[in-house]
Amino acid sequence: MPITVLFAAGPALWDDYRSALTAALRDAGLDAVLTQDAAPETVDYILFSPGGTIRDFTPFVRARAVLNLWAGVEKIVGNPTLTQPLCRMVDPAMTASMMEWVVGHVLRHHLGMDVHILGQDGHWRGDAPPPPLACERPVTVLGLGELGQAVARALSVLGFPVTGWSRTARAVPGLRCLSGPDGLSAALTGAQGVVLLLPDTPDTVNTLNAARLALLAPGAFVINPGRGPLIDDAALLAALDAGQVGHATLDVFRHEPLPPAHPFWHHPRVTVTPHIAASTRPGTASRVIAENIRRGEAGEPFLHLVDRGRGY
Ligand code: NAP
Repeated sequence: MPITVLFAAGPALWDDYRSALTAALRDAGLDAVLTQDAAPETVDYILFSPGGTIRDFTPFVRARAVLNLWAGVEKIVGNPTLTQPLCRMVDPAMTASMMEWVVGHVLRHHLGMDVHILGQDGHWRGDAPPPPLACERPVTVLGLGELGQAVARALSVLGFPVTGWSRTARAVPGLRCLSGPDGLSAALTGAQGVVLLLPDTPDTVNTLNAARLALLAPGAFVINPGRGPLIDDAALLAALDAGQVGHATLDVFRHEPLPPAHPFWHHPRVTVTPHIAASTRPGTASRVIAENIRRGEAGEPFLHLVDRGRGY
C-alpha cells in the first residue's frame, strides 16, 4: 500500500515542489502518493512550512514525521499539538547559498565597494587610502551550526581572523571558537564585522543589544541573515546613528515583509534584502525530504531532527 505524503506547506509552493518531490520520492524507491489534501488519519508524512495551514496536528494520528521545508523552526517547534518527530531542512545547496550571500556582503563592506559603485560621478577617487586586508579585519560569526560553520570557514579561507560563537563548546580548525555568555562578550569585543546565524529561540532574542553593540569596533558592519528577533532594532538604529555601527545588511525581520514605513527602509546605512539569503530550492530540498521518508520507512533514524527542548 502506498504511503501518503501530505504537502501542507501552502498552495503557493505546490507548483514549485510537485514535480521535484514526485521525482525525488520515485528516485528514493518509495511507493508514495503526494497530495495537498488527505484525511488526516491517512497521512504518513507531513511536509510543512510557515505558510502552511495546519495548526493542529492532533488528528494526524498515523503521521511518522513532520518535515519542515525551512531551516528555521521557530513557527512550529512550540506547537503543543505536535507530538511527531520534527525534522528541519539542511541542504548543501542552502548552505552554499548562505555562504555565497554572506561572503558577498562581507566583501562589499570590507572593500568599501559602495564608494565606487554608487559614486560614478566623474570624480577620480584614486588618492583614497587602501582598505585594510582581510587579515587585518576580525569578523565574528554568531552561531556555528550548519550555516555558521560554512560561512566562518569561507571567511577564514579569505584571510579574515574569524571568531565563532555557539551555545556549546565547538572546535573548528582555523577559527577561534567561544561559547556561552562570557564567550559572547569576548567574541564581540573589537570585532569589525558580525554575522548572525543563530536560530530564533527564547534564549537568542536580542542577542545583539545596546550593550553588546557597544563592544564592537567603531564603524563595524552587522550582517543578519539569521532571524529578526536576534537584534534589538532600536539599539541597532541608535548605534547606526552614533556611528558605532557603520552599516547593517539585514535579510530577516521581526515582521516580514518589512512594513514600508519601517525606519530600516529609509536609513542611509541599512541595506534591506527580502529574506533571500538562502532560500529553499525545490530540486535539492526534495531529495533531502525523500531521503528522510526513506529512512522513516526503513526504520532508520531521521536526519536533522529538531531538539524540541532546545528549540532548534
Ligand atoms: P543550526 O545548525 O541549528 O545551528 C545553530 C547554531 O546556533 C549552533 O551553533 C548553536 O549552538 C547556536 N545557538 C543556538 N542557540 C544558541 C544560544 N542560546 N547561544 C549561543 N549559540 C546558540 O542552524 P543553521 O542551519 O546553521 O541555521 C541557523 C539559522 O539561520 C536558522 O535557524 C534560520 O533562522 C536561519 N536561516 C536563514 C535563512 C535565510 O534565507 N535568511 C536560510 C536558512 C536559515 P550549538 O552548536 O551549541 O548547538
